Amino acid sequence: MAVTPILEIERTRKWRADNQERCDFLNARRYKRNREEIIRKNGEWDKQNPLARYVRNAVCLALKSGKIEKPTTCSLCDKDGDLQAHHKDYQLPLDVIWLCRSCHKREHIGVTP
Ligand SMILES: [Zn+2]
Ligand SMILES: [Zn+2]
Repeated sequence: MAVTPILEIERTRKWRADNQERCDFLNARRYKRNREEIIRKNGEWDKQNPLARYVRNAVCLALKSGKIEKPTTCSLCDKDGDLQAHHKDYQLPLDVIWLCRSCHKREHIGVTP
C-alpha cells in the first residue's frame, strides 16, 4: 500500500519532533552549562560581596552615628586625602583601619612597603 500524503505529513512531523527534541536537548545542555557557569561565578561573587556590602554599610552607619571616627590621615603612611576603610576581618565590621588609596591597594595585594 502506497504511503498516503497524510502519513507522509505525519512522518515529517515526527521527524521534526525528533529533531526538535534533539535541538531542545542541545539547547538545554548548553543552557545548563551556562547556568552552572553563571551560578558558579555569581556564587563566588556572592561569597565575597554581600558581606563586603554589609560591612561597608555598617561602617557608614557607625560613622554617621559617631560610633567610629574617620581619621584624616592614612594609618600606614600618614598621607591625608581620600581614606578608605580596610577590614582585617569582615566578621568584625567596625574593626577597621583607614588607609589611603595606595596603601589600601597594597594591603590587598599583600605587599608591604
Ligand atoms: Zn597610605
Ligand atoms: Zn580593604
